[in-house]
Amino acid sequence: MNQHSLFKNRTSVLATMHQKERVIAPIVEQKLGIKVLVPPDFNTDVFGTFTRVVKRRGTQIEAARFKAEKAMAITGETLAFASEGSFGPHPLMPYVPVNREIVIFLDKVNNIEIVGQELSTETNYSHQLVHSVEEAYSFAQRVGFPEHGLVIIVGDAAIVQGEVIKGITTKEQLFDAVKFCLNKSSTGQVHIETDMRAMYNPTRMKNIEKATLNLSEKITQVCPECSWPGFDVVESQKGLPCAFCHLPTQLIRSVIYRCKKCAFSREELFPHGQETADPSKCQYCNP
Ligand SMILES: [Zn+2]
Ligand SMILES: [Zn+2]
Repeated sequence: MNQHSLFKNRTSVLATMHQKERVIAPIVEQKLGIKVLVPPDFNTDVFGTFTRVVKRRGTQIEAARFKAEKAMAITGETLAFASEGSFGPHPLMPYVPVNREIVIFLDKVNNIEIVGQELSTETNYSHQLVHSVEEAYSFAQRVGFPEHGLVIIVGDAAIVQGEVIKGITTKEQLFDAVKFCLNKSSTGQVHIETDMRAMYNPTRMKNIEKATLNLSEKITQVCPECSWPGFDVVESQKGLPCAFCHLPTQLIRSVIYRCKKCAFSREELFPHGQETADPSKCQYCNP
């Protein structure tokens, strides 16, 4: 992979306090030739956490951008990376949980912003109300504990006010936390959920790694005219012809790449490698 001369041997700052450098730094250093520095005591929790103690500000990309800018302001560096994850129901299959990870790259000197992402159904994201240690342990066994950490919250997680115990990784810690919180609970139940912070969640860490690989590919895609990094798809056009009747379908026929620096653009036909659509996707052949 070509290391871009704009970034080579520069130092970047990675805004994390959840050990995301374990997967982000090797890719950034090897594929892009950029050094990675993690500021000590960088508190990303003020930007929003998964345990809902602090609500996240803005969209996922805005939150990541904010962290990256903050890290540059603190350190005085001009390159930054930050990542942000979200968890929720799959847009097409509401019973399937999905993890969207984005990794943002900012270059303040050259005014560059590039975002990589990974959308994955590989996640243990889950929560439940439990009434006993046994019930909590059976939840734990379903979500990859103890390799994946857990969180115990007194009462209803939607109105977090009481006790929150995070980063539970041993059976003893789990049993103690459940007993402790059950004692404090007025309803006889506690909330148990997966700890989604990267260092407590190897499945999520893997998705952050994939998002970083996606980002490094985008950074190394350069404009054929001016070599500016981040030559990427900005729009797609429908109309892939039906294999049977040849009329245009709703499927993608082409994508447009555009340079953010010189505005050079290029159309790529049949981005998914297929020149016709299956007649089952055609509104005339299969209305
Ligand atoms: Zn260009
Ligand atoms: Zn047709």
